[in-house]
Amino acid sequence: MGMMSPSPASRKAVRVLTQLSEHQGKTMLARIGRGRPFRTLVATILSARVRDQVTETVVPEVMRRWPNAKSLARARPKTVEKVIRKIGLYRIKSRRLVEVAGILVRDHQGRVPDDLDELVKLPGVGRKTAGCVVVYAFGGIALPVDTHVHRISNRLGWVKTKNPKATETALYQVIPKKWWSRVNDLLVNHGKTVCKPQNPQCSHCPVARDCPSRKAGKAGKE
Ligand code: SF4
Repeated sequence: MGMMSPSPASRKAVRVLTQLSEHQGKTMLARIGRGRPFRTLVATILSARVRDQVTETVVPEVMRRWPNAKSLARARPKTVEKVIRKIGLYRIKSRRLVEVAGILVRDHQGRVPDDLDELVKLPGVGRKTAGCVVVYAFGGIALPVDTHVHRISNRLGWVKTKNPKATETALYQVIPKKWWSRVNDLLVNHGKTVCKPQNPQCSHCPVARDCPSRKAGKAGKE
């Protein structure tokens, strides 16, 4: 019996995650915090392809008008559109919010389920969104992989994968379980600030030492 000792790859991953956690602030969903799953779900749906700063200006107003699934389920999508107009894809998202709220009322007594398999049944809620709700709202265990997590895990050499689904599967082997729920927050933040898709700022990267993809830096230049 006994615990298997971690592989060198997994020790390295933990070192990187630890370092990132010492360098970063929190993402939007982490700032919303635990225990407000409806708000987390609404924010997650709104945030698809939108900058967090924009989403964060809209979420409080949505919550003020429709603080729970019951009230949002009764809202007219046209009214919701007006409130979320700053957000990309606001027409689709307003219909989606009302639809999801309706399903929560009908099938879940107006509550957001804390189970990944139930969450992914909601329209427009993929594994990543569902995982975020599990992790951020309920403090549960999941490893949501979005494009940032996918890209950076590959850059760091943790995985060699072609798509986020494969990355998720591979990461479960590399990352010790107690870190799973932190990976999204840490890598998303890192991806937005330093390890950007087009132009990673390797010369300012706190984990460059452990990264096989680091580029010789052009400090001061974008
Ligand atoms: S060294 Fe560069 S590629 Fe590697 S994690 Fe840091 S920013 Fe990303």
